[in-house]
Amino acid sequence: MSVLVVMEHRGGEWRRPAWETLAAGQQLGATAGMPVCAAAAGTGLEKLAEQLADKRLERVYAIEHELLGAYTADGFTAALEGLIRQIRPYYVLFPHTYQTRDFAPKLAARFGRVLVSDVVAWRLEGGRLGFVRQLFQGKLNADVYAAEGEPTFVSVQAGAFASVPVATGSAEVQRVTPQLEPTMIRARPGAPFQESRRSVDLSAAERIVAVGRGIKGQQNLKIVEELAEALGAELAASRPVCDNGWLPMDRQVGSSGQVVAPKLYVAVGISGAIQHVVGMKGARTVVAINKDREAPIFEVADYGIVGDLFEIVPALAAALRKAPI
Ligand code: FAD
Repeated sequence: MSVLVVMEHRGGEWRRPAWETLAAGQQLGATAGMPVCAAAAGTGLEKLAEQLADKRLERVYAIEHELLGAYTADGFTAALEGLIRQIRPYYVLFPHTYQTRDFAPKLAARFGRVLVSDVVAWRLEGGRLGFVRQLFQGKLNADVYAAEGEPTFVSVQAGAFASVPVATGSAEVQRVTPQLEPTMIRARPGAPFQESRRSVDLSAAERIVAVGRGIKGQQNLKIVEELAEALGAELAASRPVCDNGWLPMDRQVGSSGQVVAPKLYVAVGISGAIQHVVGMKGARTVVAINKDREAPIFEVADYGIVGDLFEIVPALAAALRKAPI
């Protein structure tokens, strides 16, 4: 019995949610007393696999085939199905990304199982492992128990395990060649989708400056853009800012936007509604600027500045420019 972590990569690099899932998998392995393996599908995986060779893993499976060069749900499902049938892991973990959402339920169905998705934690009770999922925009936590049998397929929410370090050690890398035929792959992948020219993957950003309705209008965004620039941060927003068209929808953080886990999250004029907080609570350090000292955002903030953002933000940007980080 083992834990298998399915890693995700893009452009020759591991995606950050994949590292978080690896750390989560190691933690799960320690809880369940099981060895942990990692797997990835694609082509030319040598360099990526090498980056896992010094992690505390029993084995790294590099599933390589020319038909896996571009992601397709059919190809990845077939490749991973073959590996899982061969090595029979007890738990299979994925980062809860768009790609996972695309193929992991299909993979789970091949085994007559479901995907326990977007998990934020787990609990061992009476010898059974319950997976914690958030319901009703994070207002309730539910413990989900997989039906008897194996494997159990689980996807891990971005940010939920961001603070857990990946344990180092050594791992053997094993190259796997799956049985794939061109007829098995029905989709013809095009170029990766770009939502817009400014499309951004906020889940990979190390620093984020997020702006809320407190900014009052699009014409005022310049001050937060300058703060973001001074910090070397990505610009993000709460939903009203995107709904009003002040910033594109791909900048929205929250339950109906992106889930982020940067090292630094500066919330400017954001009240801290639960739908926003579920998207950024994985940030390591949160700085909130709000004129209302009772604003809920201060409950999740490490540093709070109570005051008018129109005074504070330009002053902060000017100070940062003088002392660049
Ligand atoms: P407000 O709640 O209006 O807060 C503005 C804040 O700015 C206030 O705290 C105020 O004190 C402060 N402020 C005002 N002027 C100043 C000033 N001069 N200086 C300093 N501070 C000032 N929201 C999201 O963000 N992301 C989501 O993904 C999301 N999904 C949702 C999904 C559903 C199904 C629903 C129902 C709602 C969703 N929402 C989402 C909306 C969410 O409920 C809140 O309405 C929203 O987050 C509020 O945005 P805000 O904090 O920018 O605005």
